[in-house]
Order: sequence, then C-alpha cells, then structure tokens
Amino acid sequence: MDPSSGVDRVADVLIVEGKIAGVAANLTASSAEVFDASGMIVAPGFIDMHVHLREPGFEHAETIESGSRAAAAGGFTSICAMPNTKPVNDSATVTSYIVETARRKAVVNVFPIGAITKGSAGEELAAIGAMKAAGAVAISDDGRPVMNSRVMRRAMEFARSYELPVIDHCEDLNLSAGGDMHEGFLSVRWGLRGIPSASEDVMVARDLVLAELTGVRFHVAHISTRNAMAMVEFVRRKGLSVTCEATPHHFSLSDEQMPPYDSNYKMKPPLREGCDRGAVVEGIAAGTVTAIATDHAPHAGSEKMQEFELCPFGIIGLETAVALTLDELVRPGKITLNRMVELFTAGPESVLQLGRGTLAAGAPGDVTIFATDLDWTYDVNQSLSRSRNSPFDGRTFHGGPVATVVNGEIVWRRP
Ligand SMILES: [Zn+2]
Repeated sequence: MDPSSGVDRVADVLIVEGKIAGVAANLTASSAEVFDASGMIVAPGFIDMHVHLREPGFEHAETIESGSRAAAAGGFTSICAMPNTKPVNDSATVTSYIVETARRKAVVNVFPIGAITKGSAGEELAAIGAMKAAGAVAISDDGRPVMNSRVMRRAMEFARSYELPVIDHCEDLNLSAGGDMHEGFLSVRWGLRGIPSASEDVMVARDLVLAELTGVRFHVAHISTRNAMAMVEFVRRKGLSVTCEATPHHFSLSDEQMPPYDSNYKMKPPLREGCDRGAVVEGIAAGTVTAIATDHAPHAGSEKMQEFELCPFGIIGLETAVALTLDELVRPGKITLNRMVELFTAGPESVLQLGRGTLAAGAPGDVTIFATDLDWTYDVNQSLSRSRNSPFDGRTFHGGPVATVVNGEIVWRRP
C-alpha cells in the first residue's frame, strides 16, 4: 500500500542494494532474503516528524541509539529530532554531532530539526543556513516557543529563503504560565493550574498571520484544540502552505480519561476536552491534518515520580503510535487504511521533503510491515526506550507493526 503512487494491491516488493527495485506480482530474485508478509500491509517506511532523542545532554532519559530502536519497534524508519537538547541544536556543530552519532549508532534514519533562536531563548536567530548545510530539515523552538512576533517574522523570512519549513509548538507562555493541565472543569476540581485552549489558539492565529506575510512553509506541531483546527482549515482553504500534525494521545484521549494527578498523562499541549479530541479526529479524517507525529518525549522515572506540579511535560509514544491509529481511527471507520498510511508517509514527506515515504523505484529501501489482526499488550517495562512514561502501559491492541526495514535491512521484527 503506497499512497504516493496510488498502489493498493497484492504484490512483492524487491529491494536491491538498499533501494526499492520494484513492486509487482511474483517477483523473483535469486539468493534474496525473503520476508513473508502474507496477510499484512507492506507500506513505505513510516516517518515520525516529532521526536525528542535527548542526546546530547539528557542521555539518562534517551539516546540517539535507544530512541532509534524504540522507533524501529514502532514501525518508524525515519524520525526527526527536536532541538531541545543540551546544548540546544542551534549550530552546525550540534547538527553534525547528531548526524554523525546517528550514522554510527541509530538503526533508523535520523533527521535533525534545528532551533529557531540561539539556545531557543527566543531572542537571536540561530545559525539557520549553517544548520541546513549540516543536515537540518526544518527549524523549531519546540517546547520553548518564540514569544516575540518580530523575531518569529525574521525567522520565517530566513527559513523561506533557505527553503526550510518552520514548525511551531504554538503556545502563548504568558497565557499558560504555570499551568499543569487543560484549564476546565477537571483542573478546577483537582485544584491544578490550568492551561487554557486560548494559549494555543492565540499563537496559532499569530503564526498563521505571519506565515501569510512571509510566505514560509509553516507547520503547526501537535494541534489539540478545535479553534486551532478551524483556523488551520481556513488558511489551507485560502491556499497558504500551512500544515499540521496530530499526536496519537490527542486523538485517543481527553482530560476525562486522565486519572487524577497521574504524571504519565501530563504533556503539552495537555489532553483537552472531548469536543477538542473530536475536532482532532475530524481534522485527520477531513484532510486538514497532514501527519501523525508522536511527540515522543522521554523522561526518567525519577523525574516523573514527583508531585504532579513538579513533573516535566511529555510522554513516550514511538512504540504505540501505529497501534493507536489502527485501533482508534481505522477500526471504528474514522479513516481508511490508505489514509492512515498516507499520514505516516506521504503526509510528513510533503512537509519535510526527505525523498522518502514512497515505494517508487529508486527510493531508499525503507519499508514498514504491519498487521491489522494482531492482538498484543503493551508492557512499558519491555520498551526499547530508556524511559517508561507512557499512559498506555498494559493496554491491549488489535494491530501493530510486525517488521521494520531501513535501507534494505530488517532492523526490527516483532519478537
Ligand atoms: Zn511541543
């Protein structure tokens, strides 16, 4: 199944010397390694455009190697690494370090995302051109959004001239300051400080205005509110090159499903209300959402086992994303399998332009094999990530990845 070339049929996929050689019925190749995918879906390698690998600087929570292994176990062949490492990826030096470390240790393709501003401090622009030359595929200050609109405008102008997309974690920090969960009935009842939907909506609105002004390719990360979705839909209809991604947790969960004070449900943006979750699902079905991305955010157990207010934001997600999409969106008939594959392949590829996400002849031999009739239970203690912060521990799924092939090599098989 390859939405990029309109392929949806029973066929063999042949990979020769790391590249797709052909897709056709009854292909033969002497001495080739054969993977029997009968009854399964064979798709272009899945791309996760929003991952935190924590290296350099926070290797106790994740490394480029461990994160890449978790990605492979989740069916991903390519991942994008957000720049909020220590040091922040705001220079060619850090970008090159990530590219080189990935080349030596990662089992999947790793594409760095550079910072928008130096140290992601929101003041001076980072070395955007140099980072691009070193391998950065986009810029973002994810987690520490650029609050100064003039700085963001300049960043968009630079990014446009370097033909890089700008990805924003849309949050007005002054509106959400100090908040720990979605501002609503439950935050009041539990006595926790709220993060209003308005903190996301205000920033999405600003960014869309600036995207129109500058003509940059602009991407909204982890969209979570109904108003933000409506605004993105509006500007896409106007023809702006604006895209957005949704995370599995935002289309699977709302704040009502959150156990009180459980830090494995603490993330940014927070789990919103049922109608926001519904809007995310509708946006995915209607085509407003271009990609599903995990926002895989590992944190060590000690960091997540503090009082709720002190815990860092974020959950791991690489190993459960495909299964959640199958169970929450495909099985109930919200989207087709073909659309699901698009959201993990041609969708993110259209934003990042990596030359992947396709089974066309000559493309890199990246393949994701998954099954829709596979019962399995997620045990976070078996995770290949270094961290354990998942709200989906113990959940039983009815489909998921079976094998992951990167540049022609099988890098993971379901045990
Ligand atoms: Zn973010």
